[in-house]
Amino acid sequence: MQCRNACGACCIAPSISSPIPGMPFGKPAGEKCIHLLADMRCNIFGQASRPKVCSDFKADQEICKDSRELALITITELETMTG
Ligand code: SF4
Repeated sequence: MQCRNACGACCIAPSISSPIPGMPFGKPAGEKCIHLLADMRCNIFGQASRPKVCSDFKADQEICKDSRELALITITELETMTG
């Protein structure tokens, strides 16, 4: 599966425990990463400072579903179950 345009669900819904530039403790679930641009692209895409967890994540039908809204709901539910 390819990432859909202007999504950014995986930059908002999940918690990220590894440091992000400007967010040294990562981010809590539901908080937008400070590097997520208005058009939902990553401001530090391709840079070495981008967390490994971000570059490792691949779009997955099970998580990303058929819309950004469903992806946000699904990831939030997974966070609730695992958090
Ligand atoms: S660093 Fe980029 S890819 Fe990672 S959560 Fe932030 S905006 Fe998303």
